Amino acid sequence: FEGGFEFGSDSPTDSSDEFTGPVPVVAVVGRPNVGKSTLVNRIIGRRQAVVEDKPGVTRDRVPYDAQWNGRRFTVVDTGGWEPDARDRAAAIAAQAEIAVQTADVVVFVVDVSVGATDVDEAAVKMLRRSHKPVILVANKADNQNLELEAVSLWSLGLGEPHPISALHGRGSGDLLDDILNALPPTPLVTEGGPRGPRRVALVGRPNVGKSSLLNRLAKEERAVVDSVAGTTVDPVDSLVEMAGEVWQFVDTAGLRKRVHQASGTEYYASLRTAGAVEAAEVAVVLLDSGEVISEQDQRVITQVIESGRALVIAFNKWDLVDEDRRFYLDKEIDRDLKRVTWAIRVNISAKTGRAVDKLAPAIRRALASWETRIPTGALNQWLTALTQATPHPVRGGRAPRILFATQAGAAPPRFVLFTTGPFDAGYLRFIERKLREEYGFEGTPVEISVKPRK
Ligand code: GDP
Ligand code: GDP
Repeated sequence: FEGGFEFGSDSPTDSSDEFTGPVPVVAVVGRPNVGKSTLVNRIIGRRQAVVEDKPGVTRDRVPYDAQWNGRRFTVVDTGGWEPDARDRAAAIAAQAEIAVQTADVVVFVVDVSVGATDVDEAAVKMLRRSHKPVILVANKADNQNLELEAVSLWSLGLGEPHPISALHGRGSGDLLDDILNALPPTPLVTEGGPRGPRRVALVGRPNVGKSSLLNRLAKEERAVVDSVAGTTVDPVDSLVEMAGEVWQFVDTAGLRKRVHQASGTEYYASLRTAGAVEAAEVAVVLLDSGEVISEQDQRVITQVIESGRALVIAFNKWDLVDEDRRFYLDKEIDRDLKRVTWAIRVNISAKTGRAVDKLAPAIRRALASWETRIPTGALNQWLTALTQATPHPVRGGRAPRILFATQAGAAPPRFVLFTTGPFDAGYLRFIERKLREEYGFEGTPVEISVKPRK
């Protein structure tokens, strides 16, 4: 939960080919009425602009999800920036400055039909101080004559002006190309195209029943298939049909052959677990219901969480659980599995086949949570309401606040909070708990990191 999340530092645990760094942020700033909202609407492809004709209509920083040429980014609309503004207008200007600070690229909009004003010049000074890359937009260049006027904006010292008409769309494609070029590598839009079977790791300490379960699944569901059209499967994996779907159980060679690593030290067992978990999207951790939850069980669970994989906990050998054992097991679960209350649990018996059909739905649910994406606008709205109702406790005379939040990636869901200062671990746990209450995330770890403003 510590801060220090760095842009571009990709999680080493992610094996998908999608770039999963944070979604970069583009802030659109400029004085009132130059056409910022119109431009944002054009970028996000919304036809009916929610634009008011009055200058300085209050608008907080409003983030929207946008994409261009198969890349995703967030665009933040800001109210008009005025250097000497008072009261409400001053607050709006402050919001625009915050937007600049939390952005990767700033799009600075000037009204070319008016030309550069003193206010524009003052904004340029603020932008310089921010050291952010700035793209200068000469908006309202509705015709060729106005387009030529854009040349006069070189005088602002922000490089080449981009003449566009946000209203009519003129020049906006070229502008978007240039915005993307200025951004750090951006996540690809994941296409819902065909992909191989979902990858599942069956893990747990020796003798919990992994090979028994695999054999049971293979028998029960009739087929251990060797290949699926259009996919290549590692020979150490097993393809098993379960609930009408083919699943790839990874790194099962040892289990299939029933070679017993009883001789293997715990060290090798944990290496094997690590390998399987890394190769999988979801891990089913088997526990022996007949025995006390051990430290070795805990370490397996930790490996799954630290790898950022979806998690299902299967209490195997449920046929051995009597009322007495049940009583103690419930206590152990309360005490030892407190940190994974979000994990989906199933009580099964590989020996009798009890509830083995519960596995597939549990795995599917965990994977769905794992891949959840919350739209940036909804996330920020929800967080604003939450933190207004329950603000961070005061630290050193003031309460640190969230300026802006974004889901940096999925699988597992990762959130970055841009804040005015460091956040307490306790408050982050509170946010995670509320996030889970609101959005579910059953069966998946969730990461929240904080990027305090410098
Ligand atoms: P904001 O205050 O900077 O967000 O500006 P708005 O997007 O609200 O636009 C202010 C006014 O300028 C509205 O009446 C828009 O319709 C108009 N406008 C925006 N872009 C253009 C443009 O490219 N050409 C023309 N002629 N008008 C525009
Ligand atoms: P692995 O080392 O995790 O692959 O465990 P195995 O599948 O080899 O199982 C270890 C022992 O537990 C074997 O003697 C199995 O017959 C037994 N076993 C596995 N599943 C169950 C179960 O659901 N109930 C009972 N009673 N025994 C089981």
